[in-house]
Amino acid sequence: MGMEKIAILGSTGSIGRNTLEVIDCLEDRFHVSGLAAGRNLELFCKQVQKYKPEIVSLQKKEDVGRFNQMCPADGTRVVSGLEGVEEVAGSADNDIVVSSITGISGLKPTLAAVRSGKRVALANKESMVVAGRLIQEEARKSGAGIIPVDSEHSGVFQCLAKEKQCEVKKVILTASGGPFFRVSAQEMKHKSVAEALQHPRWKMGKKVTIDSATLMNKGLELIEARWLFGLTAGQLGVLIHPQSIVHSLVEMTDGSVLAQLSRTDMRIPIQYALTYPDREQGQLPSLDLSQVGSLDFYEVDTVKFPLLALARTALDQSDSYSIVLNAANEVTVEAFLKEEIEFHEISEIVEKAVANHKQANAESIEDIFEIDRVTRVHTRNLLEQR
Ligand code: MG
Repeated sequence: MGMEKIAILGSTGSIGRNTLEVIDCLEDRFHVSGLAAGRNLELFCKQVQKYKPEIVSLQKKEDVGRFNQMCPADGTRVVSGLEGVEEVAGSADNDIVVSSITGISGLKPTLAAVRSGKRVALANKESMVVAGRLIQEEARKSGAGIIPVDSEHSGVFQCLAKEKQCEVKKVILTASGGPFFRVSAQEMKHKSVAEALQHPRWKMGKKVTIDSATLMNKGLELIEARWLFGLTAGQLGVLIHPQSIVHSLVEMTDGSVLAQLSRTDMRIPIQYALTYPDREQGQLPSLDLSQVGSLDFYEVDTVKFPLLALARTALDQSDSYSIVLNAANEVTVEAFLKEEIEFHEISEIVEKAVANHKQANAESIEDIFEIDRVTRVHTRNLLEQR
């Protein structure tokens, strides 16, 4: 077998950098054929010079001139903008596309990758949340294989690799509980950005770290799991598991419960998504459960974490519900990161945005973006009026 060619969308982000580390250790098997990044030009330049991909894309057209100057790379074509990243994503040259642009900006590139019929290692959970139905339809048409990168979903995927879908009774995603699991609801209200960014288990991007503090991340993951694995609301559950060693549990119809355990390191699910159905040598020391000591599990307090309750509701509502939930959350998390609102206002404003919207199904990508756009305007109004 020749080298497998990988394109990474969002290569300077946390998932992108971890993916490159995985590839560094498997350099006989994988070649980086395309990269797309945002505005961290310095790091991007280092990556481009090291991996010499055939094509790279910059988020902003106005960065191209400066990038070419700082990063003379022979044999690499530089493109830009949404069209650019879609070109990297959809290139017939790729064998695998790692989709790791955060937020709804990752949706169109993800669709381009899915339409190309290649393997998509999916880290952009928001695309499944807002467009799960559409993405699965496109994947059926093109034959693309979608392999989750999100650790919990990778766990479910690994548990189900040799199982029959019809024999699955329940899927439970675990949540670390985030930085505020042991903090009272009252205390949690006024936690600062810095405190919310102190995730106890995972080192991740800012948006997903705040989402972990509100448990919205787990909510988005429930919706993601619904579409990835074709599950109903009744088949999906969440347990708090502070050690983050068990990533998910799958109960089968006969009463057996399968679980996937590993160290808390994104390189494990990333590598699995790249090498599936094979496994390759990992770089981490073995998981030592005697060191971990105990594995604890708790029910989630959805009164304290109302965004998780909203996401649960979204599981059996129209498509618009998830789209509005996601968009309102993105806007409020951004406002929180800029210290414009307090921690408790994230969920309060999202709740208002969801409550006020008119439910509808999204028939097309245009519908999705329109609902998203209207929600963002509406949420910004709510932020201003408060
Ligand atoms: Mg996760």
